[in-house]
Amino acid sequence: MLESLKGKSVIVTGGSKGIGLGVSIAFAKAGAFVTIAARGEEAGANAVEAVALAGGTVQFLQCDVSDWASVESVFNEVAKDYGLDIVCANAGIFPKQTIEKMHPDEWDLVLDSNLKSSFYCVKAALPHMKKQGKGRIVLTSSITGPITGDVGWSHYAASKAGQLGFMRTAALELAPHNITINSILPGNIRTEALNDLGEDYLQKMGNTIPLGRLGAPEDIAGAALFLASDAASYITGQQIVVDGGQVLPEGLEAPD
Ligand code: NAP
Repeated sequence: MLESLKGKSVIVTGGSKGIGLGVSIAFAKAGAFVTIAARGEEAGANAVEAVALAGGTVQFLQCDVSDWASVESVFNEVAKDYGLDIVCANAGIFPKQTIEKMHPDEWDLVLDSNLKSSFYCVKAALPHMKKQGKGRIVLTSSITGPITGDVGWSHYAASKAGQLGFMRTAALELAPHNITINSILPGNIRTEALNDLGEDYLQKMGNTIPLGRLGAPEDIAGAALFLASDAASYITGQQIVVDGGQVLPEGLEAPD
């Protein structure tokens, strides 16, 4: 299955940390050329080192996914130098704030970073993938919004559910060009951003997961590799939940 990823050019937004870094390492190990697109240069340099250590070929390009000019210029640069086969639109933020206390600017920041960015990535990839007659796009959504609610994350949930609505129409518009677009819905994945929510949160969440542990970036990477591979060439507009069974229990108690 992974044979088909050899030599492919993939952009991973938010590839400098967490899930995106795990995805970048996995693509690099499968023989793809990885472009990590994120804002922070120091984290980007560290990520390049980590991916190279794993034996991959990789570059970092500074990019703010909430800014159209930035996304367009990075995608054009990659396409010009290496072609563009796969986009993992993964960058996102999840600051916690209740509706009562939320300033409208906080809402806009999350929607711009998580949802508008998906539109930007697809729009920027489209001319290049259309020209080469094929392409794969994988969005990182979440269980929060599409399936569950969570106090303090109304803006985040709206952005993540919005990604799926966008994806379904995008799938129809991209299909004639042999471009697929699918979404991964992670549960609680142990990353720097999740660690920021505190040990108490991590402990409690871990206890509710039927498979008995929080997820790891590699768990999401497995689904991304599949969706980008030839094995998934007839799948588009779909979502895969990768959550260790987290959303399955009917009650609040963790299963025995
Ligand atoms: P993370 O560890 O904080 O990593 C986020 C990545 O996105 C970093 O590389 C960050 O780099 C980049 N980023 C953030 N805003 C950006 C922007 N405006 N432009 C470009 N890059 C940006 O977060 P994570 O936990 O891996 O989350 C990654 C994705 O998975 C997000 O979409 C998140 O919603 C989703 N997700 C995570 C979980 C979880 O449990 N961890 C669960 C469900 C869904 P810079 O800040 O340097 O730009």
